[in-house]
Amino acid sequence: MTRTNQHTPQRFDTLLVANRGEIACRVMRTARRMGLRTVAVYSDADANARHVREADEAVRLGPAAARESYLNVEAVVEAARRTGAGAIHPGYGFLSENGLFVEALDAAGITFVGPPASAIAAMGDKSAAKARMHDAGVPLVPGYHGESQDDALLRDEAERIGYPVLLKASAGGGGKGMRVVESADGFQAALDGCRRESKAAFGDDRMLIEKYLVQPRHVEVQVFCDTHGNGVYLFERDCSVQRRHQKVLEEAPAPGMTEELRREMGEAAVRAAREIGYVGAGTVEFLLDVDGSFYFMEMNTRLQVEHPVTEMITGQDLVEWQLRVAMGERLPLAQDELTITGHSFEARLYAEDPEQDFLPATGTLTRFGMDLAGAGLDPDRVRLDSGVETGDAVSMHYDPMLAKLIVHADDRTQALATLNRALAALDVRGVVTNRAFLQRLATHPAFRDANLDTRFIERNEATLFAERRHAPEEYASAALIGLHQLARECESDSPWDRHDGFRLNAPHTIRIALCDPAHAQDEDDSEAVVVVEGRRETEGSPWQLTLGGETFAATLEPLEGDAVAVTLNGHRRRLQARRDGNVVVLVDPQRETRLFWRRIDAIDHGHHEAESTLTAPMHGTVVALLVEAGARVEKGMPLMVMEAMKMEHTMTAPADGHVESFHFAAGDTVGQGDVLLEFAADE
Ligand code: ADP
Repeated sequence: MTRTNQHTPQRFDTLLVANRGEIACRVMRTARRMGLRTVAVYSDADANARHVREADEAVRLGPAAARESYLNVEAVVEAARRTGAGAIHPGYGFLSENGLFVEALDAAGITFVGPPASAIAAMGDKSAAKARMHDAGVPLVPGYHGESQDDALLRDEAERIGYPVLLKASAGGGGKGMRVVESADGFQAALDGCRRESKAAFGDDRMLIEKYLVQPRHVEVQVFCDTHGNGVYLFERDCSVQRRHQKVLEEAPAPGMTEELRREMGEAAVRAAREIGYVGAGTVEFLLDVDGSFYFMEMNTRLQVEHPVTEMITGQDLVEWQLRVAMGERLPLAQDELTITGHSFEARLYAEDPEQDFLPATGTLTRFGMDLAGAGLDPDRVRLDSGVETGDAVSMHYDPMLAKLIVHADDRTQALATLNRALAALDVRGVVTNRAFLQRLATHPAFRDANLDTRFIERNEATLFAERRHAPEEYASAALIGLHQLARECESDSPWDRHDGFRLNAPHTIRIALCDPAHAQDEDDSEAVVVVEGRRETEGSPWQLTLGGETFAATLEPLEGDAVAVTLNGHRRRLQARRDGNVVVLVDPQRETRLFWRRIDAIDHGHHEAESTLTAPMHGTVVALLVEAGARVEKGMPLMVMEAMKMEHTMTAPADGHVESFHFAAGDTVGQGDVLLEFAADE
């Protein structure tokens, strides 16, 4: 055991959280519940961030760059001193696995909520960690993790292990300095490349070699140890769905586990933790091969992003456990008191664009929330761990993860259905996110069948990224919902509040063009044109929609929250409907439909123009007066522009004559049927 200089645990009443975003908010939530005073720290970019707003006190660390703020050890220690914080929770990322930080806290007499520096160091180097795990009897992927880095020796080792092999930087992390080598021919080039990459990223070019498993699952075990020599495992999580070694969807328990395998993996994980004198929450990551063999990959010496799925199935609060252990208490439960109840999923919501190679996105969240009522969800089964709220800015400075959506149900099938409903209920506007991509993953048949491995996204790329064709019903629903939303925005005199069909003066028929938002620039590129006509009440459905050769008798009924029910030819569907600028977004538990929505009817004003042109065709605003009062004009000359329902309407002279007066000025609101100007035609 290597716990020498560690600070002796003692109780504390003030906790500083050296992190930001969702994890800072999540840690403070438990701390508050336990009666602790909470201190946040922030960079200039986060001066008004949610974690700062929620804390009892907050201290500025420095400029936006993480190096100068959240990674600045001295500034964090100083913030703890200023606020009298007895302990620091590091969250994940930033300083959470930094041994020097832990040593600085030990020296300052501040409790680190996490393992001793020696345990972090033991797992920091992949080769050294493997050697220790081997000694502790934890299974390793067949491979080489020796000292010698001689080219010829490494090549021989690769041969002995058998291709394909994986080259990994000993000092590596975050998937950097890692390369698959298919055969002896490519070995030298891959080795050179990996060394260069590793040297650049970690200042260290030592390599290890592993057998490359072709279809492994990523299964990790949550462990917990206290300072009294107790250690338990809180079962496993399957995190196989990854993109570029970044986890996207996680679940607990892992599908298809037997009780025996669960115990074997759990006990191996606790052995790994004990071997290095571990204290607190840790995660031992394993690769689980198709034949049921499992191999140690690495140990994360902190709380993981995906810890909530473990909390859901065990009914425990892991942050509370961490804080109790840090105060010197014993683990709240023994191994035989821990049980699994139901199934849980977590989906990570990133500000990124899956259609553009997951490029991080920025902007202001004009809306961020979850419409539980509209989706008919039980709030006890759904948890949204988020670091943002409506109105918050998403900057380029930090990790693009905005929030985590976590659900729980009695079994995997029900939990997956809940996840899909909850994803549909998630309402994020103003910033591009992977929400719809998460829905495509979570509704994918291979995911439903738990056909999981770490190459899940690559294997299913064709179906996950396929451009979707829309059914006529989707176009029809989008056309109608777009009109409904606009009418609602123009609130007064909305035709929808009356059940007698269209009352708009003109035109009686509205034409709506719809297309993929990506093609919205090309004026002519509409995929569908839907003609919407009002019908008499006696005909049952108030609307008739025509598109291509198809006709739908339609009804729209607003429900709770964002939910609406659209009935087309007697088939009623419940949807969540939103508008993002000119894009109508329809979401159901299966999919998201986004369509750029545009009215195109005013272009052909047609014959009734002469009499209707001088009264407002509908509720709207005056944009501009184009001539002076008293001006002489010729028939057809534009006189005034107004905007209504997102369209500009130009009022033109009905005959040769002159404008006697305008009744409104630019910026005025006009009601449907208002007389806009007095016109005198020549005799
Ligand atoms: P890092 O520390 O850079 O994140 P890891 O060693 O944790 O690297 O590996 C990251 C991911 O790479 C794993 O989750 C898994 O998907 C894949 N991986 C790692 N080792 C192997 C292996 N031997 N065979 C197949 N895939 C592997």
